[in-house]
Amino acid sequence: MRIDIATLFPQMCDTVMSESIIGRARKKELFELHCHQIRDYTLNKQKQVDDYPYGGGCGMVMNAQPIYDCCMEIIRQNQEQGRPRPHIIFMTAAGQPYSQQKAKELAQKDNLLLVCGHYEGIDERVIEELADEEISIGDYVLTGGELAALVVADSVLRLQEGVLSDPEGYQEESHWNGLLEYPQYTRPEVWNGKAVPQILLSGHHANIQAWRQQQAQQRTQTRRPDLWEKYPKENLETSKKKK
Ligand code: SAM
Repeated sequence: MRIDIATLFPQMCDTVMSESIIGRARKKELFELHCHQIRDYTLNKQKQVDDYPYGGGCGMVMNAQPIYDCCMEIIRQNQEQGRPRPHIIFMTAAGQPYSQQKAKELAQKDNLLLVCGHYEGIDERVIEELADEEISIGDYVLTGGELAALVVADSVLRLQEGVLSDPEGYQEESHWNGLLEYPQYTRPEVWNGKAVPQILLSGHHANIQAWRQQQAQQRTQTRRPDLWEKYPKENLETSKKKK
């Protein structure tokens, strides 16, 4: 997989994507990630990328042209590698809410291009021209799209083969199948007067599985009734029978 990020802060994105699990996977070349400076595509001497909004109002709006030219160059580079036109996502507070389901869907694609806005946002015309979709990472406003693009890139890349040491790991995690994850414990057995639940020390795999499933359901029900509402009831039956 290849991910390109078009941004005014390529160093910020590059630094984050060079750390930890994703950074190690990037070094092993399990995927390609390229961060591009939108400012390099301006046509004015000052390298200005924004202007006042038509109709007035506070703040500045990013011009269409440098974003368009930057994206066209990224598309060209992808095609040069024999890849299809990347799936282009504009990070916007007004986009569709991001989810694990969307991460799974995007992880199936060969290449993604994530475009980060700044200031008051981006001239709508370039979004209309290029975007396959707009994604919001939550109902709040960030100063720029970089953190949002990094959230999308991280959640998609960790699903690529070889990135996680245990490929099954993510299938038990929160949101994979509509439930929150069960509580986790590690050594010592007693910490601060609190003991690890006995069942986890029993070595009885089936009972541990049943306990975890029950904990996951209970957590989802109490913490996220909205998710619990959508959880398929036939899955509930299966887990009851397993117990
Ligand atoms: N005026 C815009 C609005 O009200 O929707 C917000 C602009 S915000 C200050 C600047 C940039 O941050 C946006 O162009 C977008 O790229 C990014 N951004 C802010 N909040 C976001 C969110 N929740 N999800 C994704 N991107 C976001």
